[in-house]
Amino acid sequence: MLTLLICLCGASQAFTLVIDAGHGGKDAGALGKKCKEKNINLAVALAFGQLVEKNCPDVKVVYTRKSDTFVQLDQRANIANKAKADLFISIHTNSTAKRTGVQGTETYTLGMHKATENLEVAMRENSVITLESGYKQRYEGFDPKSSESYIIFELMQDQNMERSVKLAKLIQKQFRNNAGRKDRGVYQAGFLVLRETSMPSALVELGYINNSAEETYLNSKNGVSAMAKSIYNAFVAYRK
Ligand SMILES: [Zn+2]
Repeated sequence: MLTLLICLCGASQAFTLVIDAGHGGKDAGALGKKCKEKNINLAVALAFGQLVEKNCPDVKVVYTRKSDTFVQLDQRANIANKAKADLFISIHTNSTAKRTGVQGTETYTLGMHKATENLEVAMRENSVITLESGYKQRYEGFDPKSSESYIIFELMQDQNMERSVKLAKLIQKQFRNNAGRKDRGVYQAGFLVLRETSMPSALVELGYINNSAEETYLNSKNGVSAMAKSIYNAFVAYRK
């Protein structure tokens, strides 16, 4: 059985949480045999948000999308910045070009990648901006597929890094202990959506859609519920 932690009530200040379901609309994200990334992300995002709304009356939940719609990356960040959010959690599902045996969850914070695999994840997630018109101007010439574009992340000072890493570790711990998923760890990489947000933030990769067992799990009611509860438990622990 999954344990459900209850939010600390009576916190004096209201807290705003932005939940970002990755991709949507014309941007399907990574493709599995049976389902699309955008749908898994949305199902988990909504289930996570419902748990917060139900159990944490002092938390305002803002969604970047609640249905199958296309939202630009910079708009997602704008929503969080305008809401003066205290925390931003972006939910995604992973995929690899070749290896189908790879499986497990990863959580990212903003920073410079140390391994090529982490750069590849950021490149794939950032490449959605090419579906936006005028993206070259909007993102100041950032080329999501060129490794040179990622050098800027090395010089970047992220004042929210400590809190973001704390949250990311809590999420991975819940995925491992609560949902029984393979924990692939916490990493840093140059995700544009995290760069544009000005609060602690993390980007979750729920599992590999090109691994058939993981796709089946993430496409199931139990899988969605367990992943949402895990992120929720991590959120509650983070606030403590
Ligand atoms: Zn994604």
